[in-house]
Amino acid sequence: MDDLLKDVQKLVRQAARSRKATITVSPEVASLLESITPPPEPAIVEQTGSEEFEALRAEVSECRKCRLWESRTQTVFGGGNPNADLVFVGEAPGENEDLQGIPFVGRAGQLLTDIVEKGMKMSRQDIFICNVLKCRPPDNRDPRPDEKEACLPYLLRQLEMIKPKVICALGGHAAKTLLKTEESVGRLRGKWHFYQGIPVRVTYHPSYVVRSEREPARYKADKRRVWEDIQEIMRVLRGEITPRPEGGADSGTPDLFG
Ligand code: URA
Repeated sequence: MDDLLKDVQKLVRQAARSRKATITVSPEVASLLESITPPPEPAIVEQTGSEEFEALRAEVSECRKCRLWESRTQTVFGGGNPNADLVFVGEAPGENEDLQGIPFVGRAGQLLTDIVEKGMKMSRQDIFICNVLKCRPPDNRDPRPDEKEACLPYLLRQLEMIKPKVICALGGHAAKTLLKTEESVGRLRGKWHFYQGIPVRVTYHPSYVVRSEREPARYKADKRRVWEDIQEIMRVLRGEITPRPEGGADSGTPDLFG
């Protein structure tokens, strides 16, 4: 198989040099080429943190503080850099996350990855991504108040250890849990909030954005709003602005839902 690939590479190089638009191969080679399965996408590598951080990961993996342990495949502690400047906090693992043990790997996860990689020009390994809940609620239902209450100490301990420069709350569950408010995402975004002195920017949950895909105008508008929020976060990470609790919203981003 390796020899075949080398031959094909040689052919492609030759064709490129001679500016040929097509390469002719025998039926045998064509069927061999078709039988090659591409290597799997590189898995998101878990980075280990301090002893304390790894102890918390182990503690979470055995958690039975609410009934979600009964239906989970595994806990989803979070992933990325345990010393990250930026932490994204989502809602709860979905089906794919529950199966893989990694946050944001489904469709919404792809959007978040695009935001990080294509938009912010960072890697998922530079940031930390986690959720309010560490276990998947069955049938992807909303997290219940008792589940959030039971799980919250884990998130707070994660944030205490990571000490990020900025937190991005993805959607209402993360925003309301961290900021202890009942305000809607529409009202919370567009300004700086603080959790224990750490600036928090609230934006729409990627799943919410993905759901609007069938309405192109809304989808475009939602993505634009998320991008505005992310750009503000990037300004903090680059040291261009320092949000101050007493100053409230200092970003100049219009509150589109005010
Ligand atoms: N939605 C979330 O809030 N978290 C995930 O990990 C995946 C989807």
